[in-house]
Amino acid sequence: MSLVEVLGTAQDAGVPHLGCRCGNCAAARADPRRARYASAVRLNVEDAGRYLFDATPDVRFQTVDVPDGVFLTHAHLGHLTGLSYFGRESVDADELPVYATPGLGDVIRNNEPLRSLVTDRNVEVRSVTDGDPVALEGTSVTPIRVEHRESLPTGTLAYRIDGPNRSLLYVSDVDALTAHSESLIRDVDVALVDGTFWSRDEIDRVDDVPHPTVRSSMEVLDGVDTEVLFTHLNHTNPLLDPTSDARERLESAGFRVAERGDVVEL
Ligand SMILES: [Zn+2]
Ligand SMILES: [Zn+2]
Ligand SMILES: [Zn+2]
Repeated sequence: MSLVEVLGTAQDAGVPHLGCRCGNCAAARADPRRARYASAVRLNVEDAGRYLFDATPDVRFQTVDVPDGVFLTHAHLGHLTGLSYFGRESVDADELPVYATPGLGDVIRNNEPLRSLVTDRNVEVRSVTDGDPVALEGTSVTPIRVEHRESLPTGTLAYRIDGPNRSLLYVSDVDALTAHSESLIRDVDVALVDGTFWSRDEIDRVDDVPHPTVRSSMEVLDGVDTEVLFTHLNHTNPLLDPTSDARERLESAGFRVAERGDVVEL
């Protein structure tokens, strides 16, 4: 059997958010149970080990042991910078397989401080190709290219994980729920979906930070058979407050906010 465990559910910068005194951030500083780590999951495959998806700046709180591999989604703050914790200043990992797009692999190999991870043999970068599954003892991990601020030349991946019995999609960041991403979600049993913003009025520069709003995603996914959990929540998102109207609307529509510790059997 394979299991996916949710390790973090916040946008890259976490909750609380540096420099912010909004209600969600103040609540998280006052009560650590309201704090959220950056979005990540771990796949446990019987006889094939444990694999981290996204290397977040919160990684030292999210896992104790060095995993058997890390699947990277893209090069933004919350998804890549935790890789440094596998280097010599920290756990000094030994040739940890790191799966990434060829472009992101080049960035890691050619730029400090990440380059040292390669030259010190802490990590071994392996390229993955869109649609080409990585086989792990009866479970497969398929990288799928999605649109997410494509100005970033190294690309962004979602991952589809197919276990012996069920399938899960992890799509932490996507610019919009296009027909492509919608079909990816409809095609699996469980989907962890970009829930950065509840609505477009949460931040002034929302046009610079394209994400589908949870409100619009709920309409697109109305009546879907897939179990949908929203993750990657921004500190401004009213869904962070369990007593909010937004949370009630979400749950009465049959959706859920992902929580650290959630486990999905595949
Ligand atoms: Zn992100
Ligand atoms: Zn805030
Ligand atoms: Zn991103």
